[in-house]
Formats: sequence, C-alpha cells, structure tokens
Amino acid sequence: MAATMSRLTRDGVTYVLNGSKMWSSGALDADYGLCLCRSNWGLPKHRGLSMIAVPLKGTSGITIVPTRGASGLMSDHCEEFFDDVMLPAKNLIGAENEGWAVARTLLLHERNTVGNVGYGRLVGRRERGPKRVFGGEPAAASATAAIERRRLDAVGTMVVDVYIQSVVVPLTSARVMAGLYAGKYKGQWGSLTKLQATVAAQASVRTAMAAQGADGVIWDGEEVRTDNVGTTWLESRGGTIAGGTNEIQRNIISERLLELPREPAPDQHLPFDETLRNSGRR
Ligand SMILES: Cc1cc2nc3c(=O)[nH]c(=O)nc-3n(C[C@H](O)[C@H](O)[C@H](O)COP(=O)(O)OP(=O)(O)OC[C@H]3O[C@@H](n4cnc5c(N)ncnc54)[C@H](O)[C@@H]3O)c2cc1C
Repeated sequence: MAATMSRLTRDGVTYVLNGSKMWSSGALDADYGLCLCRSNWGLPKHRGLSMIAVPLKGTSGITIVPTRGASGLMSDHCEEFFDDVMLPAKNLIGAENEGWAVARTLLLHERNTVGNVGYGRLVGRRERGPKRVFGGEPAAASATAAIERRRLDAVGTMVVDVYIQSVVVPLTSARVMAGLYAGKYKGQWGSLTKLQATVAAQASVRTAMAAQGADGVIWDGEEVRTDNVGTTWLESRGGTIAGGTNEIQRNIISERLLELPREPAPDQHLPFDETLRNSGRR
C-alpha cells in the first residue's frame, strides 16, 4: 500500500493522476474512491504520499475493470486505471505528502470493523456473537454433522478448536470494544481482533472442507461450484490480506500494542526513487 506507484502531480489549481489501483471493492457502484498516490518521489516511502478523492462516475481518464477471484468467478473487487485524470485541488484529503496519516486512520477503522469492534452498543455486538465471525450459520455446526457421518476423529479436534474460537473471538472483540469505549484502550487494537477474526474464519472453512472431503471440491470439470464450502475457503484468503496482511498486523501488535522494538527498515529514510524496487524510475 505504502509502496504505491500511482503518481499525483500538481498543475496549478488541479492535480493530475496517473497510474492504477488494484482491489477496490465495489468500485463499479461507488460515486467516489479514495486514492493514495505518490506526490513526491524524493521523500521516503511513507512521507511522499497524498490522499485524494476521485469521482468515479463520468470523470474522463478512468477505466474500471472488475477482477476475477481465485475461484474463477467474477468478484466485485476492481482495478482502476488512471490516465491524466484531472482533479480539483480541493479533493485532496489532509495535506499534500501527508496522506499516510489519512490512510492509517482509515485502516484503523477498517480493521476495527473487520475485527467486529466499533463504537456501537456492546450488548448488540455480543448478541451477534459467532454468527458474525463465521458469516451465517457457524461452520462448526455443519462440520459436526459431517463428522458424525464420517467418524473422522482428526477433524473432530479441528471442530473443537473452531468452536472454541467461535466463543473466544467475539469475546475478545467485545472486550476491546469495551476498553475503547471506556477510553482505556487507545490506538490499533483493531489489528489484534482483525487478525484473530480472519484467522479463525479461515480455520472454520478449512475445517468444514476437511469434514466434507470430496464434496468440498471447488471445480466440477470446467464449472465452478458455488454450492459448496470450497469457494468460501478460497474467498476467506482475502480476509487475511484486505486491510493489511497478517504480517503487517503482527508488526503493529508487537510495535504499537506490546511496545516491542521496531522492525528494522533500511529504506525508512531513503528517498522513494532510490529504493531498490524503484531504482532508476522517476
Ligand atoms: C479481498 C480484498 C479486498 C480488498 N478491498 C480493498 C478496497 O476496497 N480498497 C482498497 O483500497 N484496497 C483493498 N484491498 C487491498 C488491500 O488493502 C491490500 O492488498 C493490503 O492492504 C496489502 O497491501 P499490499 O497489497 O500493498 O501488500 P504489501 O503490504 O506490500 O505486502 C506484500 C507482501 O509483503 C508482505 N509484507 C509487507 N511488509 C512486511 C513486513 N514488514 N514484514 C513481513 N512481511 C511483509 C505482506 O505480508 C505481503 O505478503 C483489498 C484486498 C483484498 C485481498
């Protein structure tokens, strides 16, 4: 994300945007997108970024292409291509070259949402419990039924783990939310609950797949089956990437929640156009 190569150039009272942006969920239906782009290539990676609001309907120079998911089915995640898109300077969000602070705030809220932490009423959240984590009926229930049929002891252990997670994950979210609400917790706690919830969701569908055996396969010849757990398993991979990957969440937890030493970053103070990836490109 902070390695974006999309280029924002100021031209008087307007900005010109060139480049592309991958993975925008629902972009075909959205009126606006927020684009984090590089506005100064001579500053270090995180310091030369700007956030700008891009009207997606009727703006010349924008092409939006829906992408295909890992299962082969079309998804609502899109890729946008920007060719000399003219944007008024008032569309800038925050100060020029300080877009990373905007992105971090936005991601904090995204992770809180994915991790089932918000600022709403605690009771309502508790009631949603495991259903929210697993999306619909808890997978443990259907997996348990399959196990009874197949008598797979190994899968039984997985089901117990999934059941424990289905209790622990919402309780952790509720605890974090209560701490945030009371002002006791500040900052990046959504990283913890997002990591926990998405890893648990993957374990849940992995368990359902193990229980279903050959019935869980995704493809039937050339056809993608949508009536089985295989497609859900493939889709669950996205949860541990969207909003920042697991590795990033673990870094945030260690550095910002546990206050462990920062990960070494040799390019932290290096101008972006001198970093290895971008060497020689301007
Ligand atoms: C299903 C899905 C939906 C999405 N929806 C949206 C959306 O609506 N809008 C939007 O703007 N974006 C969306 N995204 C994009 C998503 O936010 C980014 O893909 C994600 O934040 C990761 O950033 P990146 O792709 O730049 O990868 P990077 O952060 O560059 O990571 C690339 C790889 O390097 C690893 N890595 C990076 N840094 C470290 C480190 N310090 N230590 C160890 N490993 C590291 C990562 O784990 C990863 O494997 C979506 C993505 C997915 C999968």
